[in-house]
Amino acid sequence: MADDVRIRQFEKMAQDDPNNELGHFSLGKAYLEAGRNTEAATSLKRALDLNPTMSKAYELIGTALHRAGQRELAIEMLTRGITVADERGDRKPREAIAALLREFGAPVPEPKHVSAPQGRPGSSADAGHAQPPSPDGFSCARCGRPSGKLEKPPFKGPLGLRIHEQVCQVCWREWIGMGTKVINEMGLQLANRAHQDTYDQYMIEFLQLRV
Ligand SMILES: [Zn+2]
Repeated sequence: MADDVRIRQFEKMAQDDPNNELGHFSLGKAYLEAGRNTEAATSLKRALDLNPTMSKAYELIGTALHRAGQRELAIEMLTRGITVADERGDRKPREAIAALLREFGAPVPEPKHVSAPQGRPGSSADAGHAQPPSPDGFSCARCGRPSGKLEKPPFKGPLGLRIHEQVCQVCWREWIGMGTKVINEMGLQLANRAHQDTYDQYMIEFLQLRV
C-alpha cells in the first residue's frame, strides 16, 4: 500500500533526523491521511515544537486532534495557528484554519494587523483577505501570497515549471534551506535516481504543490 511506503519513509526520516521539522511534519500529514489521528497529532506537535511558525501544521494538528476527540485542544492549536499565519502573511493556511474553527463552532480571531494600504472603506468583512488577487492569477500553493512569483523556473523539467507557476520567492528560499538539510542529514546523492525521487518527494510535500 502506497500509504505504508510513504509512512515508513517519513518514519525513517523522523528517526534518523529527529531535529528536522519536515520529517515530523511529513510523517504527521501521512498519518493523518491514513486515519492514524493520534499518531498524526504527536508528530505534528514535534514539528511545531521544532518550528512554531509552520502555519500549515496547525491546520493539520487541529484536524487530527478533533478527529481524535480532543476538541478543546484542537481549538487551542488552531487559534494559535491563526496568530502565526497572520504574523507570516500566510493567507491560505489562515483561511483553512478559520474554516475549521467555524466548523468546530469556535470563534475565529480577527486579524491583528491587516496591512491594507489600499484600505477600501467598509471592507471589514474582507479581513484577512485584504490583498487583492494578483492580476495574473498567481497565488502561492504553500502560503497563498498573491505576489512574489519566481522570475523563472528554478531548474529544468516539468517539476521546475510547476514550481515556477505555483511557488512564491519566500517559500522557495525556505525550501532551499530545508532541502539542504534533507540532503545532508539523509545523505542523499542526487546523481542517484532513487535519492533524487526522495528529494523531490520532500520538496513537493514542503511546497504543497498542486497537481
Ligand atoms: Zn509562498
